[in-house]
Amino acid sequence: MVNSKLKHLSYKLFPGQCQLCLSPSRRPSDICIDCERDLPWLQACCRRCALPLATGDLCGHCLKQAPVFDQCIACWEYGFPIDALISRFKYHGDKACGALLAELAQTVFSQTGFSQTAFSKTTVDMLIPVPMHWRRQLTRGYNQTEILANHWGYAFNIPVRHAIKRTKATPTQQGLSASARRRNLLGAFALPAPDAVRGKHVVLVDDVLTTGATANTLAAILRRAGAAEISIWCLARTP
Ligand SMILES: [Zn+2]
Ligand SMILES: [Zn+2]
Repeated sequence: MVNSKLKHLSYKLFPGQCQLCLSPSRRPSDICIDCERDLPWLQACCRRCALPLATGDLCGHCLKQAPVFDQCIACWEYGFPIDALISRFKYHGDKACGALLAELAQTVFSQTGFSQTAFSKTTVDMLIPVPMHWRRQLTRGYNQTEILANHWGYAFNIPVRHAIKRTKATPTQQGLSASARRRNLLGAFALPAPDAVRGKHVVLVDDVLTTGATANTLAAILRRAGAAEISIWCLARTP
């Protein structure tokens, strides 16, 4: 009896519901302790691009040709059930899911000490969300990277700047050589006020880093404008 009363009280005090197993989380967060522990947290990974690695500290790609950005911090390996949570946030407008992901990632970034990562010795000057073409954003109603950037910007007191615009919708990449593909991607973005990033440590905010082609293109644009340091913060990294 007492036990059930206590249980009832704990539900009342902490009304969170786990987004994964749907049981009461018994804490303010919308994920229970067990489900949080079982998430595919990114363990050993490339210190440059966050690719999951069994051994070593740089992946084969980065050893062969280092990416333009300086480092990537990712929280999870892209896989079950993070993929489902991200998809609910990204494609189905599930704001509670988005808030949960942003909140969990915030803990990772603050533990990583984002100003003292492997390469970085400087504090972050601004967060730049990876832009979405306005037409797609109009259909979807929001850009998930903007929501993440706003959450982290607020949490860490870092300004969010919409410095890069997507000027072309998804460019056709089929049948193009690698260099033509790079040019094509480069032509899809614009940096209207390059002076704003000169000499700064900028962080590109993305949801999932897959091949890194887009992140690298944006990093190249920022580097050309004189950005001193370029980091990527993302939720998940594909293995
Ligand atoms: Zn749960
Ligand atoms: Zn790498």
